[in-house]
Amino acid sequence: MQTEPQNISDGMVVSIAYVLRVDGEEVSRMTAGEPLEYLHGYQEIVPGLEAALTGKKVGDKFSITLAPADGYGDYDSENFDEIPRDAVPFGDDVEIGTDLEVEDEEGNVYLATVSEIREATLLLDFNHPLAGKSLDYDVEVTDIRYADEEELEHGHAHGYFLDDELDFDDDDFDDDDEDEDFDDEDEKPSR
Ligand code: ZN
Repeated sequence: MQTEPQNISDGMVVSIAYVLRVDGEEVSRMTAGEPLEYLHGYQEIVPGLEAALTGKKVGDKFSITLAPADGYGDYDSENFDEIPRDAVPFGDDVEIGTDLEVEDEEGNVYLATVSEIREATLLLDFNHPLAGKSLDYDVEVTDIRYADEEELEHGHAHGYFLDDELDFDDDDFDDDDEDEDFDDEDEKPSR
């Protein structure tokens, strides 16, 4: 039987229960029964939280407040773009605050939020919804294990609840989309 790791370090799959609050309001919560599983050292979680977890053991609990730069980044008031309304399917149904996925000419997909609806265009905010926010986390480490080879290759954890069909990785697309140019092999898909 392989011994299990004691302290969190790069290349381990870590399960955490946590509560995230922003400005005193709960934004997300994962329980010990249904924890977040992530691959440590691969930027799957915000940098300040990943740094705080390094060296922790199963059962460790802590609270931490992260500055925006250690969370989802500072809010960038230049990170806006205007697109034609007719470029968006259901463009007439969007509202301020609607989240859209926008693809650029190279096929990179970005998440954006509708910030203004103008006559023929939409003004989109490309900042993460939590950009510029301080993040208050209460965290408990519930499990640590070694990643398998496939997880290390993919750069993310394969949760037990995530079956193969739901695991969208670049290499899974190879057969279907041979003429598509996936030039972002180093980018991990968010899920
Ligand atoms: Zn994968």
